[in-house]
This record gives sequence, C-alpha cells and structure tokens, in this order.
Amino acid sequence: MLKIGCHLSSSKGFLAMAETAAKIDGTTFQFFTRNPRGAKAKALDPDDVNAFLKRAEELGIGPIVAHAPYTLNACGAEERVREFALETMADDLARMEYLPGNYYNFHPGSHVKQGAETGIRLIAETLNAVLRPEQRTTVLLETMAGKGSEVGRSFEELKEILDRVELSDHMGVCLDTCHVWDAGYDIADHLDEVLTEFDRIIGLHRLKAVHLNDSQTPLGARKDRHAKIGEGFIGAQALVRVVSHPALKDLPFVLETPNELDGYGKEIAFFREMCG
Ligand code: FE
Ligand code: FE
Ligand code: ZN
Repeated sequence: MLKIGCHLSSSKGFLAMAETAAKIDGTTFQFFTRNPRGAKAKALDPDDVNAFLKRAEELGIGPIVAHAPYTLNACGAEERVREFALETMADDLARMEYLPGNYYNFHPGSHVKQGAETGIRLIAETLNAVLRPEQRTTVLLETMAGKGSEVGRSFEELKEILDRVELSDHMGVCLDTCHVWDAGYDIADHLDEVLTEFDRIIGLHRLKAVHLNDSQTPLGARKDRHAKIGEGFIGAQALVRVVSHPALKDLPFVLETPNELDGYGKEIAFFREMCG
C-alpha cells in the first residue's frame, strides 16, 4: 500500500496530526520538531504521545518523518552556530525516542565560504557527537538543491558525510524530488539512470524517504522553489513514475508542496489513483 502524506503543523500535538493526516487519506506525515526559527521546543506531552501511538497504529500511519528546523547549520563558520545545531539535534533525537522507529530528517548545512570539504567534515563531526548506539531513530540527510553554499547537492557529497559517520547504521537519505531536479538530476526523463547513480554512489539501501514536490524552476536551476504537483517543470507524470518505481514504491512519500490541507488531499488522492 502506497505510504503517502504531507507536511503538517505540529502546534496541536501528535494525536491531532494523526487525525489530520487520516482526514486526507494520509498514511504518513512530516512535522517540524520545533518552530523553524529554532526556538526551544515545547516539552512532549506523554498523554498525547501515548494517544498518538495507539491511534497511528489503528489508522496505519507511520513511519513518520520529523524535520529539524531548516535554520540549523551543522557546518556554520561560527562555533556558536555549530554548537546550537548540535544541541538542538541532540535534544530532538532524545525526544524522538518516545516515538521509536521513525525518521529525523535534516538539511546537512551551508559551508559559507569554508568549502564543501570543511562543511562535510563539520557535519560528520556533529553527527558523531549526537548519535547514540541505542537510539531507535534513523537520521536522514536530505538531498539539497545546491543554492548558495549548501552541502549535499550531489550524491557524492552525501556519501562523503556518511563515510565519516561512525554509527552509520543509524543514518539514511531522504530524496527531495524538487531539490535533486534543481541540483541537475533529471528525474523527469532519466529516472532509472539517476537511481542507478544513487545506488552506485550511496546505495539504495540508504534511501528511506522521499519528499515529493514539483519544481518552479528548470533542471539544474539550484533555486529550491517547490511547486504543486503538475504545476512545475518536473510534471505530474514524471512524479507518478517516481512514486511507482520498484526501487521507491515502498518508501514514505511526503508532499511539501505549497498547499493548504484540501490541496494536499487532492494530491494524495491523485497519487493513490495513479499508483494504487
Ligand atoms: Fe527539508
Ligand atoms: Fe524537502
Ligand atoms: Zn526545498
């Protein structure tokens, strides 16, 4: 069964997210672990978490994807920026242990003139400081569009990070269709070749989730402007091929398209209709 959902607001808690997902026929969802500005996270409410775990099982929801605040930069040039990323990730991962077996996705970072090599080393150092042997959450590096000095614009850069992580069993990759397209991977006309390359460089066993977005800009634009499904340069039919691809079809797909809930609902219905 196709596992698909969308990004949801976490302001009303986990149980509310499960009910909202179910309302639009979603069987997964993504949420920010705290407000994107990276402020302190609210304490988890154990009653809400327990109610969620029970309801999610009834509804067939999960695994779900937690998204770190996108303002975190594990490879910032200033020490206090890196410190903040490390502390936030460690705190998020500790909280995720109340929801075992799910994913924690983050943007690797921006090297801000230090060069990709330094960025890769600093990101791996951060991961080595926050990962725990006993943790039950898999941490995902998101494929990036390559705007500015973003690290993770190529499969090679992601592989270099993974190679430096000691507890790499706890690591995976989340492929964002808008981002890889913007980074120059032609998933519209050469999906098989792109996935073969992913497998050769990183290994498809590392691929754990997909962000399902169209792109407002042409192949290789390095802009990162998400579009609604079928309203961008990738196109609806190409995204249907992504969702139904044998190497991907069992992964959780998360829509991050510019939509309100009803728009997400329509996109979920479209993929369920087209991909089963
Ligand atoms: Fe993201
Ligand atoms: Fe994304
Ligand atoms: Zn994006």
